[in-house]
Amino acid sequence: MRQNNYLAPTLRDIPSDAEVKSHQLMLRAGLIRQSTSGVYSFLPLGLKVLQKVENIVREEMNRAGAQEMFMPSIQPSELWQESGRWEAYGPELMRFKDRHDREFALGPTHEEVITTIVRDDVRSYKKLPMTLYQIQTKFRDERRPRFGVLRGREFLMKDAYSFDKDFNGLDESYQKMFDAYTKVFTRCDLNFRAVVADSGAMGGKDTHEFMVLSNVGEDTIAYSDSSDFAANIEIAPVKVDYEKSSDPVKELETVETPGKKSIEDITTFLSIEQSNCIKSMLFIVDEEPVLVLVRGDHEVNEVKIKHFFDASSVELTNDVETKKWVNTETGFIGPVGIDKEVKVIADHAIEVIVNAVCGANEVDKHFKNVNPGRDFQVADYTDLRNIQEGDPSPDGHGTIQFKEGIEVGHVFKLGTKYSEALGASFLNDQGKAQPMVMGSYGIGVSRTVAAIIEEHHDEDGIVWPLSVAPFHVHLIPVNVKQDDQRELAEALYEKLQKKRYDVLFDDRAERPGVKFKDADLFGLPLRITVGKKASEGIVEVKVRKTGEMFEVHENDLQEMIE
Ligand code: ATP
Ligand code: MG
Ligand code: MG
Ligand code: MG
Repeated sequence: MRQNNYLAPTLRDIPSDAEVKSHQLMLRAGLIRQSTSGVYSFLPLGLKVLQKVENIVREEMNRAGAQEMFMPSIQPSELWQESGRWEAYGPELMRFKDRHDREFALGPTHEEVITTIVRDDVRSYKKLPMTLYQIQTKFRDERRPRFGVLRGREFLMKDAYSFDKDFNGLDESYQKMFDAYTKVFTRCDLNFRAVVADSGAMGGKDTHEFMVLSNVGEDTIAYSDSSDFAANIEIAPVKVDYEKSSDPVKELETVETPGKKSIEDITTFLSIEQSNCIKSMLFIVDEEPVLVLVRGDHEVNEVKIKHFFDASSVELTNDVETKKWVNTETGFIGPVGIDKEVKVIADHAIEVIVNAVCGANEVDKHFKNVNPGRDFQVADYTDLRNIQEGDPSPDGHGTIQFKEGIEVGHVFKLGTKYSEALGASFLNDQGKAQPMVMGSYGIGVSRTVAAIIEEHHDEDGIVWPLSVAPFHVHLIPVNVKQDDQRELAEALYEKLQKKRYDVLFDDRAERPGVKFKDADLFGLPLRITVGKKASEGIVEVKVRKTGEMFEVHENDLQEMIE
C-alpha cells in the first residue's frame, strides 16, 4: 500500500477526551474516528487489524467445527417478547419503530434469532450437536460508553451458539469453544486468564470470562498466586449442582427489570412478576435507596440477595421467623414460607440482584421441591465479593491476588432457557420431543483490538504483534526526491509483495523526522529504511519491538527478515 494517498491521518497530540492508551493511540495512529458517543468508524489501517483478529477468530471457530452464518441486526419485538427479554433487557436494547408502527430492536446478541432458526430447521437428534456462529455488528445503548472501542454502543462481536441433545453434550461443546478461545487470545499475543464468572443472573451454570490482564479493565479478578484458581470478584456464593438432584432440576428463570429507577417502579414490577413466581431480578439504581419487596404467591424456598455493595446498609424488615435464616454476609436467606414478605432497604445500593426459587405448582418453568444442599451446593469457591488481597485462596492453594481485567470473551452454558421459551425441541432416538440444550459464546472483536494495543505499546506508539499487524513491513525511502533511494525502494516494494509480505510504502515527500515518528506510531513489526547507502544497495532494518537496527544488503534482506 502506498502511503501517499492512504487514509491514515496521524495526530501528534494526545486527544483530550481519550483517557486510556489504546483509545489515544487508535486516534493518533488514524485507526478510528468517532462518529458520536460510543460509535466509531474504522479507517483503512484500523480495519486491517480488525480483519486480522476476525480471521484468527474465524479460523479457530472453523477448526472447532463451528459453522459460520450471518444474521440480521434488525430483530422484531415479537421474538423478544417470546423469550421474555423485550422487557428484561432494559434500556441497553436499542429499539425503533418502522413506518407501520411495528417495534424492532437492533440486535445486542442473537439467542432469539438463532434459536428460532434452529427450531424451524433442525428436528432430529441426528443433526446434533451443532454450533453456529457469526461475526457481526452488535448494538447496545451502554450507560457509559467509554475508552473508545473498548466499550462502544456499536461494536463487532463474534457470537456462537451450540445446540446439544443433553447436558453432557453441552459440556463437550462448551469445552471446544473454551479451547478455541484460548487459541484465539494466545494467537493475539494477549496476557489473559479464563476466570470463573458470575452465573447467577443467567441461571446458575458454568460460565467463564476471558480476561486480558490490564489496569484499565473494568472487572476485578481474584486469583491464587499458586494455583489455577481465578474468578471475577462479582462471583456468587452458590451454584446449582445439577448432578446432585434426584429429579431433573429445571433452569432458573431470569427476569431483569428494565432499568427501573424509582421505588414505585420496582414495586410495580415486582407485583407484576409475583403472579409468575419470582426467580431473579436485576435493579440498577443510581445511588438511591432501594426497597426490594420479595413476595411469593407460592412457597418461596430460597431468596438470595446478591450484590449489595455495603452489607451493613441492608436491613431486613420482615418478621422474626424469617429473620433467623438471614445471613447478611452472603445475602443468603433461607426458607421464608408462604406469602412471607422480605423487605430489604439498601442505602446507596448500586446493584441488587435477587434470586428467588419457588416451589411450584406451575410445573415447567419452576424448580420443584428445591432442597438447598441437594439441589444447590455451596460452590468450591466461596463468596468473593468481600474477599481481600492476601486472603487464603478458596481452593486451598496459595493466597488471593487482585488484578484488573478487560473482558474480551465470554462462554456460557445456557441450558434450555431459550429452547424452552422459543420451543426449540428435537426428536430423540426414541422419537420423543426434548428441548435442545444450548450454550452461547461471545468474543468482542473490536474490543480485542483495543486490548492488544493496551498490552503492546510504548511511549512512541503501538507495537503490533506480527499476527495482527496491519502490515508486516514499513518501507521508507528517506528522501523520495533522490533517484537512487526512490528506485531501490520501489524495487523492494515490488519484490517484498511478490514474496507475499504486506508492505506499507511511505512514498510521501515528507521530512524524515515526520516519517519516522509516524512509523513508530503505526508500530509495524519491521521498518526498512532506504537512505544514503541506497547506491550501494544497503538498507537499514529496524525491529519495532526491540529497537534493534541492522544494515543489510538488499540481496540479503529476505533471508534476514525471515
Ligand atoms: P461487559 O461486562 O464489558 O459489559 P458483557 O458481559 O455485557 O460485557 P457479553 O454479553 O458477554 O458482554 O458479550 C460478549 C463479548 O462482547 C464481551 O465479552 C465483550 O468482549 C464484548 N462486548 C460487550 N459489550 C461491549 C461493548 N459495549 N463494546 C465492545 N465490546 C463489547
Ligand atoms: Mg455489558
Ligand atoms: Mg461482563
Ligand atoms: Mg459477559
